[in-house]
Formats: sequence, C-alpha cells, structure tokens
Amino acid sequence: MPGFEFFGDEERKEVNDVLETGILMRYGFDGPRKGIWKSKELEKAICSQFGSTYAQLTSSGTAALTTAMAALGIGAGDEVIMPAFTFVASFEAVLSMGAVPVLVDIDETLTLSPVAVKSAITPKTKCVMPVHMCGSMADLDALKAICEEHKIFLLEDACQSIGGTYKGKSLGTIGHAGTFSFDFVKTITCGEGGVVMTNSEDVYIKSDAFTDHGHDHLGVDRGADLHPFLGYNFRISELHAAVGLAQIKKLNRFLAIQKKNNQILRSYLSQVPEISFRVVPDPEGDSYSFLSWFLPTQVQTEKVINALKEEGILAGNFYWFANNWHYIRKWDHLKTSNSLYPLSELQQKALTSLQHNSFVASDAIMSRCISTAISLTWTEEQVNEKGAKFLAVIQQALR
Ligand SMILES: *Cc1c(COP(=O)(O)O)cnc(C)c1O
Repeated sequence: MPGFEFFGDEERKEVNDVLETGILMRYGFDGPRKGIWKSKELEKAICSQFGSTYAQLTSSGTAALTTAMAALGIGAGDEVIMPAFTFVASFEAVLSMGAVPVLVDIDETLTLSPVAVKSAITPKTKCVMPVHMCGSMADLDALKAICEEHKIFLLEDACQSIGGTYKGKSLGTIGHAGTFSFDFVKTITCGEGGVVMTNSEDVYIKSDAFTDHGHDHLGVDRGADLHPFLGYNFRISELHAAVGLAQIKKLNRFLAIQKKNNQILRSYLSQVPEISFRVVPDPEGDSYSFLSWFLPTQVQTEKVINALKEEGILAGNFYWFANNWHYIRKWDHLKTSNSLYPLSELQQKALTSLQHNSFVASDAIMSRCISTAISLTWTEEQVNEKGAKFLAVIQQALR
C-alpha cells in the first residue's frame, strides 16, 4: 500500500533540486528559485495522471477536505452525510468548518449505504461525503443520483484510494470535488500533503486562495495580491511536493504490484468456503491497496484474528471493528463532544445523539470484516508463502 516502501534516489533528486536553491516556499521568489516549481509541477502531474481539470495541493488530506468544503460553501449549521466507517479526519474537517457531521450506516462496499444516505437527508443537508475506504469505492452512481435529486454536493474523500477508478474515471474526480492524502502511509506520499481535485474552475480558484490566506495570486508581486475572501494557511512546502513528484512517477508501477499481490493473496482466501469479499461497485476500478474480506460471524472473525496473532502474522491485517481510529464504536471523544474549544450547540446536539444511535447494520458488517494491507515489497514467492500460511491458519481456526 504505502509509497514509503519505495523511497529512493528519485525522491532524493527532486528534494535536492529544491535544497540547491533554498526556496522552500511554493509561491514567489521567482528569481532565486531558478525555474524550480515542484508544487506546480506536481499539480500538473496530478491533473494528467487522474484526469482532473484542476488540482490544488494542500498541507494534508485533512486540509484538503476542509478546503474543498470551504470552496463549496459548506459551513455553520450545514449537514454533511458521511459514513460511520472512515478515518477521523473526515469528521474533523466537517467540524472545523462549523458544519454538522451526520454519520450513517455503511453496506458491504465498506462505505456509504445509499439507502442510509437517502433516509438521512434533511433540508439542512448540503453535502454527501463518501469515503472510498481501503482502496476501493462507493456506489457512486447511486450517490450521485441522490445528490442531483436534492441539489446537494458530492465530495469524495478518496484519500485512501489513490489510483482507483469508477467506470473509467479516477476516484476523487467524479464529485463536485475530491481529495487525496499524501501522508506517510498513503499509496503515494509527500511525507505530509494532500490535494483538492475538481473540474469546476470556481471551486479551484476558491481552493487556491483559501489555502494561502485568501491571496488571489493574480499579481507578480505577492505583497500586492488582493484578498477577495478569508483564507487560512494550508500550503504545501516545495520539499514535500518534491517527494510527491518522484512518487507520482512511480504510481503506475505501485498499482501494478498491488494488483498482482492482491490477486495472489485472494486466490488463497478464495479456497475457504466461509470467506466472502467486499463488494466493489466497479471491480475493474479497485486500486488493490487492501484485500477486505468477511467471515460469516463475529465469533469466527475473532477466532481468526486471534489465530493470526498467535502465529505472529497479524501485522498488516486490520480488524477495524476493534480499532480506535476508523470506526464509530470507539470514537468516544466524538460522541462526548470532547473538544478543546466550544462547539456550536447544533454540533454538540448532533454528536450527543450518536451515543443513542445504533449502527446495527454497520456493526453486522464491520464485526466480520478483516482488511489485509498489500505491501509493495513482497516478492511473488513471499505472497505465495503468506497466502499458504494464511490459508492453513484460517482453516485451522474455523475447524
Ligand atoms: C489519511 C486520510 C485522511 C486525511 O489525511 P491526512 O493527510 O493524514 O490529513 C482523510 N480521510 C481518509 C479516509 C484518510 O485515510
């Protein structure tokens, strides 16, 4: 899964280009930077690799989500529908805009259930945010239809699905806006970083300014820029962008390795009649960074997890149901509105209601789900070894 596994001379070369000039900032200093514009180059590479019309780099994936929401005009009191299985960054971004996260059930795609989304729509709903978890995608046709019917935004959190596609289009480029994260454990990394992708010039121009204190970036002199609206500093640095530039050139190779390793591992798990696999709305479009699989019951799943642990091969296998970061069950800080600063009454009310809201449908899926992260460094021999060992341990545990 993560690009850091293949960090090497290419990354060092790009970073050294920046270190040679010492211009670590992405804007201005036109003379001394001697034609080195890593952030701009990476934005261009992102547009061409993923088929997005525009790309705005940010300092993180969380900042990218925040920026996208600001550019779409999502703020105080607006409701954003998102899945109960995601990374905490998704709701952090919503809360930071003053908006209200509305968490709903997932289905076997491991992200938003369109049925659950439909029933959560209110007059205050402004946005639906599918999170393409673990390398694969949401049922985008169904979600898009809901958004069109209700005239609300579709914002794709594609932070975990770099390189995945849906019906021929890159994940993150299908909604009104979409985001990637380039943090250290993502498919390609900048160390820290993220991007907002959009096909709307308006959303792009707003994102560009928002990430840099509202600067309009129209003049040649940064000091003379106008500030048409308020912004923040969510800029990426040239050093981070340089790493990303080396990484994006390797992405197609990463994806090919992921696919191969994933399919080999799957061929072993497929031999266990009790195992089924995550529903992938467009199987052609899986990025293959994870293999997510289900056992028939929670008890059997826990048995398998324990067996993998005993055999010392649990690393890289995620039982999200018991994990503190990715599933609502363990988000006590969210459910108790444990914020350092006052949240709005509307936000607090919505968060408190999560304490009484049961996620039976999601529990029934997550309690039986194991996601196996696919490493880029496994040799074919190692994947086969892993597969065989997995198979033996699982069959033994289910006996
Ligand atoms: C990683 C991630 C983010 C946030 O990215 P950061 O760059 O770490 O801020 C957001 N959403 C999901 C689903 C992620 O996995």
